[in-house]
Amino acid sequence: MKSQKFTLSLLTLIFGCYAFGQNATNELPVSIEKEFSIHKNVQQHTNAIFDSLVKIRRDFHSYPEVSEQEKRTSKKVAAYLESLGLEVKINIGGYGVVGILNTGKIGKRIAWRADIDAIASDIPDVVDFKSKNAGVRHICGHDVHTTIGLGIANVLASQKENLTGTVYFIFQPAEEIFKGAKAMIDDGLFDIINPDEIYGLHMSPSPTGVISTKSENIYAHRAKIEVAYKNSINKDAAIKYTKELISKLQTYEPKSEFWDDRNILNPELGVENPNTIYKDYIAVRSDFHIDQSDDELKISTVIDASHMNKLNSFLESIKTEIGHSNFSKDLLSVEFSFVLEANKSPMNDKVLTNETMNSISNIYGEQSVIPMFGVAPGQFGDDFTFFQKHTPGVYFFLGGSNYEKGIISMSHTPNFQVDEECIKTGVNYFSSMIIERLNN
Ligand SMILES: [Zn+2]
Ligand SMILES: [Zn+2]
Repeated sequence: MKSQKFTLSLLTLIFGCYAFGQNATNELPVSIEKEFSIHKNVQQHTNAIFDSLVKIRRDFHSYPEVSEQEKRTSKKVAAYLESLGLEVKINIGGYGVVGILNTGKIGKRIAWRADIDAIASDIPDVVDFKSKNAGVRHICGHDVHTTIGLGIANVLASQKENLTGTVYFIFQPAEEIFKGAKAMIDDGLFDIINPDEIYGLHMSPSPTGVISTKSENIYAHRAKIEVAYKNSINKDAAIKYTKELISKLQTYEPKSEFWDDRNILNPELGVENPNTIYKDYIAVRSDFHIDQSDDELKISTVIDASHMNKLNSFLESIKTEIGHSNFSKDLLSVEFSFVLEANKSPMNDKVLTNETMNSISNIYGEQSVIPMFGVAPGQFGDDFTFFQKHTPGVYFFLGGSNYEKGIISMSHTPNFQVDEECIKTGVNYFSSMIIERLNN
């Protein structure tokens, strides 16, 4: 996950997640025993390999590698997949690795993606198994994502006789710089694999034992809005008018509760409440930037929108208002563009989101799956969205915090840590989910 300027206090997190977290447990009850015996196998196998997965995760954590330099990680991943008997392809779009688990029986083709890169950071590591690579740390949890991907591959390989179809495991480099997914695709990923559906996860500050997601975008659409006038205009007046207009058209007052990032997980206001304040909004996120050339005066700012249609209608409203103003005759254009020329939010398929949330909830209990009703504003994104442009799929959040132990899995914060029990949660839930997708 790419993020910026996102801080959450320990207290708010404890408060914010308690209502949902209190029933979550890592002892995973199988609700309908007879039908779900394969999921008992999953849980037994996960328990059996759990200690080895923790070791693997700590090894990745101790040897983090920044985007496009994931040489060691990639080698370890490939060797592990080979040891499971998977067909392995390496060096796809840089250090990308793909493992193919072919059951030999005709069936669905499901892809699972894990990102493998770490982040440049000089702040000392907070765990005992500290980073040995100076200036690099796994503070986005991709060491955990990679480990869970390997764990799922191990569990599903152990159940191969009971499965149909094919599972592809994609280990993607360079997520932090929003390049790796596209690089893998440009390097022919979809010539090697041909998935019907694709899934992946990211750590979240929710408690261990729960996952959450929603259909469609899971982060705000962040875009740059630009209003261009002919340079003959009365500049000072036009700048003043345009700033006031755009500020007026946003849906939250600059001093409202919306702007406190700690409210994103607040049970009263946050994204997990059906009436969340993060459900339906347009918010101006940065100061205005003025750009003058010989021909044009451009006024721009960055906004977050909860929905694409909100963004489009915001643009129309600006055009309409300016069209009725004194500046009408000098208006050249009103446009928006995305940072890095791409909409950064993963876009979850509606049907698959509902079906997968239901299947995990049926197997592991209702308390394990938290639906989201809104999207966090901010500079968040994941280039998983590039895979979803090709193949429908779902991106999940996996809780990794343990408030009693003081562990907060808030990505990109200096104190980022995870409760390693979340590895078990991830391997169990998503192995079972993939089995349900393959066999039903
Ligand atoms: Zn990340
Ligand atoms: Zn990140």
